[in-house]
Amino acid sequence: MGHPLRFHAIEEDTSPPYTGDINGTHKWGLPGVEPCPTCRAGGGIGGLHYPCADLSALPANELKTLSDSWPLPRAEVKRLVELVRPFVPPGARLESGVHLGPLAGKGSGHFGELFVFYSSALLVRREALIQLQEAGLRGLEHVCPTLVRFRGRNPPELLDVQLAAAGRPHRDCVSPKSKPPCPTCGYADIRYLSPLILDAMSLPGDLDVFQLREELSIVVSERFVDAVKRLELGGVKFRELEAR
Ligand SMILES: [Zn+2]
Repeated sequence: MGHPLRFHAIEEDTSPPYTGDINGTHKWGLPGVEPCPTCRAGGGIGGLHYPCADLSALPANELKTLSDSWPLPRAEVKRLVELVRPFVPPGARLESGVHLGPLAGKGSGHFGELFVFYSSALLVRREALIQLQEAGLRGLEHVCPTLVRFRGRNPPELLDVQLAAAGRPHRDCVSPKSKPPCPTCGYADIRYLSPLILDAMSLPGDLDVFQLREELSIVVSERFVDAVKRLELGGVKFRELEAR
């Protein structure tokens, strides 16, 4: 049985006049982990953010640790995961490399109404967000300010969408080069073939924008694409994804 809904990848549109760029990162994050003695995997994942996690009430020494990506022993990372868990949604994926808190840095150039930051964060101008919410799009409920500084007059007010995790790539696009989970640390090196194919049965019927579990691409519904086109919002482009 096929899924009746159609989904698209959302990507940054870098064609003229969209020259906007942000040089920055989210304020805090879970540090990297020292390499596993069995599989040698270490470091952390990229592309997973909880921008609405406000950790500012934590003690200064903890915030210092959470502002440095330098690898720490596994037990210390586990402790930090539990320390920040109250600040993220229930069931949120937390591990080394996850970014937390507002996006901070410098912005330059011309931004559209939407902006995709490193393929993994969705930023929306406040006016456009209201329009999209009024269009009834779901998945835009958790939004928070950024700390990006812009030069010049009329800087855009970009808000950062805390994306819900949903859906999965189809097993047909998992590369045979993927490795099973490590018996010591549980890390599985999963690779995906291009183009990305979605697992139709895993796709949500109640979200118009979300981030794929595991693979972490941002995916939007046909309703989202239609609303962006109707409202003539710029800064992003769409690519239809096969679902099977
Ligand atoms: Zn391992």
